[in-house]
Amino acid sequence: MTDFQRPRGTRDFPPEEMEQRRIVEDGLRKVARSFNFGEVMTPTFENTELFVAKSGPGIIDEIYAFKDKGDREISLRPELTAAVMRYYVKELHTRPKPLKLYYMGNCFRYERPQKGRYREFWQFGAEIIGAPSLDADAEVLALAYYSVKNLGLNNTVMRIGHLGVLNKFIEELGVSESMKVEVRRMIDKRDFESLRTLPDGAGAKQDVTNRLIELVSLDGGSETLEKAKKLMDGDDISLKELKKLLNILEKYGITDYKLDFGVARGLDYYTGMVFEIDAPNLGAEKQICGGGAYSLSETFGGQPISSTGFAFGFDRLMLARSQDEEELSKLDVYFIPISDDARMKCLEMVTEIRNNGISADIDLLGRKVGKAFGYADTIGAKTAIVIGDKELAEEKVMVKDMATGDQTPINFSELLKHYQN
Ligand code: AMP
Repeated sequence: MTDFQRPRGTRDFPPEEMEQRRIVEDGLRKVARSFNFGEVMTPTFENTELFVAKSGPGIIDEIYAFKDKGDREISLRPELTAAVMRYYVKELHTRPKPLKLYYMGNCFRYERPQKGRYREFWQFGAEIIGAPSLDADAEVLALAYYSVKNLGLNNTVMRIGHLGVLNKFIEELGVSESMKVEVRRMIDKRDFESLRTLPDGAGAKQDVTNRLIELVSLDGGSETLEKAKKLMDGDDISLKELKKLLNILEKYGITDYKLDFGVARGLDYYTGMVFEIDAPNLGAEKQICGGGAYSLSETFGGQPISSTGFAFGFDRLMLARSQDEEELSKLDVYFIPISDDARMKCLEMVTEIRNNGISADIDLLGRKVGKAFGYADTIGAKTAIVIGDKELAEEKVMVKDMATGDQTPINFSELLKHYQN
């Protein structure tokens, strides 16, 4: 017999976990809506050229790319920003600016699976398109910040950087274009050892290399700006921008960030502010969010337009979330009918209770009362009700509290009210 396995890097989710995932998803949606972001949905697969245009041909090795039966080059989406920008360029660009969009969807990457790194995972992201200002950057940062807070994740760290600052240093190094890309990769990976060898190998200026390493090692709050200023030999336009941004963030009540000029985000469509959020309790795969200001529209044939966005790794949010957060919602009442007539009456009651937003279930196996109580206990029902001919005749039931064992007599006509209280 074939041993039917899930594809590598994919997961099945049992009801308890799905319930928790929906709670988190609802929480994220609620915050996004409170910021006046509207939801969009795009296809699960796109033409491969979309992702190649955004990230270069190397992306093909990292994604699920294939030819469909019509010989078209198709890829399962590895992220959603490209699709949202395609949608913007093709259709949404006529809408009043700024556009504030959010999305939630599954993404696929051909990764080496490990905890927090999957081949199918979910992203929840948001973009503001068409507001070329620090105010839009701050609004996006605030959405990410308050989404995390709202989930009760208190040990996260938001690290904010600016590519204008980083790029200035990289330009001054005096290395080749391809080496600059490499340097960014080193910074992104925090590979300080390789950075130190730059003057020998790539002929980078020693002094600039030293200052660059110092810059990306800075670690602190807004006071770090002064230190960066010293390393830059004076005030720089990007630093000034960053300072303004931090002032705006203060008005949003956000002061517990870290400035980190080593946030490089690896990709060249990012233009200014960049940020990441870490959940340190996750170990190696601790980055739960990445984003920044970018310009991508022109890559997909549109007019250049400023955008700022981010994507949460939804699965990592789930991992990071403290487990004691929300108690699993329990079944309110489990009905145990012990005759055919009682079953008919139970169905009416179950339906009425369910229609009033209270959860109710009914024994479908005709179990003996003792066994049925045992089942109600196993599934965590809060109460259980046995109905037989006696209860039908008296139009009264005993509601058993499963935690205490207490029994309360309730008339049929009062039952709904009992659960509504
Ligand atoms: P990126 O689009 O690479 O900036 O990713 C955004 C976020 O998605 C990251 O910060 C991670 O939290 C999450 N993420 C990326 N790749 C994976 C993966 N293979 N499995 C789970 N989460 C991922």
